[in-house]
Formats: sequence, structure tokens, C-alpha cells
Amino acid sequence: MEDGFSALKLFSQGYSYTYDDVIFLPHYIDFPTDAVSLSTRLSRNVSLSIPCVASPMDTVSEAHMAAAMAALGGIAIVHSNCTSSQQASIVRSAKSLRLPIAPSSIVFASPDDSLPSVSHGKYVFVTESGELPSKLLGYVATSDCENLKGKEVKIFDYMRDCKSVEYVPWNYDLGKIEAILEEKKSDFVVLERDGEVVNVVIKEDVERLKGYPKLGAGTVGSDGEWMVGAAIGTRESDKERLEHLVKAGANVVVLDSSQGNSIYQIEMIKYIKKSYPQLDVIGGNVVTISQAQNLIQAGVDGLRVGMGSGSICTTQEVCAVGRGQATAVYKVSSIAAQHGVPVIADGGISNSGHIVKALVLGASTVMMGSFLAGSTEAPGAYEYKNGQRIKKYRGMGSLEAMAKGSDQRYLGDTAKLKIAQGVVGAVADKGSVLKFIPYTIQAVKQGFQDLGASSLPSAHELLRSGTLRLEVRTGAAQVEGGVHGLVSYEKKSF
Ligand code: 5GP
Repeated sequence: MEDGFSALKLFSQGYSYTYDDVIFLPHYIDFPTDAVSLSTRLSRNVSLSIPCVASPMDTVSEAHMAAAMAALGGIAIVHSNCTSSQQASIVRSAKSLRLPIAPSSIVFASPDDSLPSVSHGKYVFVTESGELPSKLLGYVATSDCENLKGKEVKIFDYMRDCKSVEYVPWNYDLGKIEAILEEKKSDFVVLERDGEVVNVVIKEDVERLKGYPKLGAGTVGSDGEWMVGAAIGTRESDKERLEHLVKAGANVVVLDSSQGNSIYQIEMIKYIKKSYPQLDVIGGNVVTISQAQNLIQAGVDGLRVGMGSGSICTTQEVCAVGRGQATAVYKVSSIAAQHGVPVIADGGISNSGHIVKALVLGASTVMMGSFLAGSTEAPGAYEYKNGQRIKKYRGMGSLEAMAKGSDQRYLGDTAKLKIAQGVVGAVADKGSVLKFIPYTIQAVKQGFQDLGASSLPSAHELLRSGTLRLEVRTGAAQVEGGVHGLVSYEKKSF
């Protein structure tokens, strides 16, 4: 007797399905959750131990996110909404953050900054460039400056010098740093590489990191450093940007476009494969079989899938083009698998169930923006809105982001009139990715166990053979599938 639909049948009915539209029917369990392996490939030659990728967005992926994602066994793609030298410096900085701590109460500033503009941390570290890596000039403990509150004073005039600062090599591990803090009775140590400060670790951050799930080996490249990806566009000037990024040690490059099936992208793929044969190049975004075929033929090592599914995205509304993400991932993965090209399911992930769906429908990794943007590791400071701690999160196609250069992603950089394809918003504080990603991965493993799949290849095989069955959820079924009928409740996932 037939029960449920095969993926082939379900996705051939003329509907565009999102993750929430579809549900898997449970299969047979004959292994424990811990036997599930989610190790995977980002692209032909880049392996990851968890299938998580941080989006190339300027409110998601800079140095601290890249180091933390690599430490977890995933990867981040550093955004290109800055000059090529700034982007290369972020890549270099990420690779030097051996201990992936994003300081929770430290601010970095340049000597010309005024004290009130940066005094929201416990310490302000003053570096030559105001960023990392750079030469350390001094620091200010904000507790010393209570009497200066509200006054416009230059930070340079009030900072302490570096005589009493404890410097340690950049690749010291947590144990060694803890020992130094204890021995020197210091509140922080400065991690240094080639005469530049690459990070500052304070005592409370060491305690915080010790409370997180234990980290594995992480995503380390042949140079022994974290693997970091970088986004570029497809203009002539991006060839120079790429040169900078390769010199900085970028391990994989993503051609960042909302509609990747273009002559510009195909020519860029061919250029990169010829000029940097060792470098994996990920093309996209695509949502159809024919788009994917063109990029595969041009030589991509990975495909990024999604158009209009991102949480901050208005492409489907503005341009009437795109596809439901579940359908897009299934269709593109079906053709990509025939060529051994891994697929990144990009956008629309708001819970672990969405990750299970993306991976089982054929993706090798998921790329996330909003899911990571509220973390300690995302760029930007926390703010308060209506009593809630939030962080800014904006679409790269928002007018605000495009003013800095990201309009190239939407081929709008040469247009006279700018049209937004994204919004500026905010997301709630989620704490550190070093804590919530391991719990999310554990939830994904439980989903795989329910489906009788002990690995990604096994899930893909079960789906393609028609063993795994799916159904479309009606509106009422979706309501029933969430918490319902309660006067109030508290939702704590871990
Ligand atoms: P999220 O994880 O927040 O649902 O989606 C993140 C993804 O949305 C990114 O990886 C990128 O593909 C896409 N994206 C980022 N900014 C914009 C934008 O402004 N407009 C559109 N159309 N897509 C965006």
C-alpha cells in the first residue's frame, strides 16, 4: 500500500514548496544519535565536520564569526562589502584567531576616537588602525574614566601605555592562557603575531568558553590555520580583489550574486579555474536545473541555492522571480549530485528542523544569516529595543548596505536608479555560536536518526531511492506541528 510521496513525485506537482510546507514521515531506527555523522563537503575539495556555513553578509561574517565557525568544524564566507584590503585583513585576522573568542566586553578603537563614542566595553584597546590585527598603542579601563562621562575627550590622551600588558603568542590554547592569567594575576592577555595584536582575551571570556560544549579539531587548512572563505563579485575589479584574498590565505571563494546564471559569472568561473587551479570556486545563486547546469559546465566546485528565501530578502516581491527553498534545494541537488558538486542551501533557515529538511533534500551544507546574526561573534554591538537585547541585521540588497557597494550582487551598481531587494532589521541576542551551534547540530542528528539516516550520503540515498516519504502540510497541519492551544508558555530549546 502507498503511504506518503517520494520526493520525485512530491516535487513534480507544479508547486513551489518552502521548508515549512513539507514534512518527512519517520523511517526505521537501528543506531543511536551519537552514531550520526554530519561530516560533509562545502565544495569539491573543502571538507567540513559540520554542515554549517555563515553567510557573506556585513552583519554576519567577519573575523570572529569566521574563526568561531571554523573552530566548530564549519566555515564562514567573509563578505565583500568593503575595500579589498579590508576584506583581506579580515581573512588574515580570522586565520590568526586560534582561540575563537569574540571578546564580550572589549572594544577596539583608534587613537583619534573620542572616549564617549567607544566607552561601552570594560576595556578599550587602542590600536594603530582601530581594528585587528594592528599594533597596540595602549588601553583604557572604562572604570578609570567614570568622571569623564559625557565629555568629548580624545582617547589617546587618557590611555595607559602597554608596559604592564602580558603578551602571549597568537596560537596559545585556552589552558596556557588560563595559566598565564593566574600566574600574572592579570585580568587579560594580549595575543600577538608578527608584532601585531590579533586578539585580547579577558578572564571572564575564558570562564565563558570553558562552559561551552567541547570543541573538536575544527576546519583547518594545509597551512595549519582556520579555513576561511571569501565572497567576490564578477566585475574586472574583482580579479584584483581575488589576488588580495588569495595572498591573505582565503581557502575558497564564493561568487556572490542573487542570480548566478549570467555570462559575467561563467567568465569569472573560467578565469578563476585557469588562474588559481587549486582554489575551489562556488557559484550561484541558482534555483533551477538549467541554471545549475550552466555553472557546472563552466567548472564550479560548489553551488549556492536560494533566491528570495532569505529572511531579509524582498526579491520575490520586487522582481517576481525565485523559488520555494525546499523545491529549489531538491531540484538543484538532483542535478548537482550527478556531477559530484556539493550544494549549499542558502537562506530561510530559522530552526534545526529546516536544517534537517535542507540536508535530507540533497544539500551538503546550509548557509545561514539571521540564524547567526544575533550571536556574540557577529559584527556590531548589541543594542536595546523595548527591553530586548538585539543586534542589527541587514540584507545586502538593502539600500543601506548597497550604499557601501553591495549593489553589485544585484547587478545594480551600474544602474541609475537603485532598487532595494532587502531590508534593514534586527535579531534577538542568541549568545555565542560556540554554544548554540553544537546544540543545534545535536537536534539535527536526532532528526536524522528518526529518518534512519546515519550520514548525509545515507540520507540522500534514502531520498533518491524513494524509501523516505514526504507529504505537504496543510495550513492546519502546520499550526498543529507548532506549539498551540496554550495560554502561555516558555520555549527553551536547550
Ligand atoms: P537568512 O539566513 O537570513 O534567511 O538568509 C540569508 C541569505 O539571504 C544570504 O546568505 C543571501 O543569500 C540572502 N540575502 C542576503 N541579503 C539579501 C538581500 O538584501 N536580498 C536578497 N534577495 N537576499 C539576500
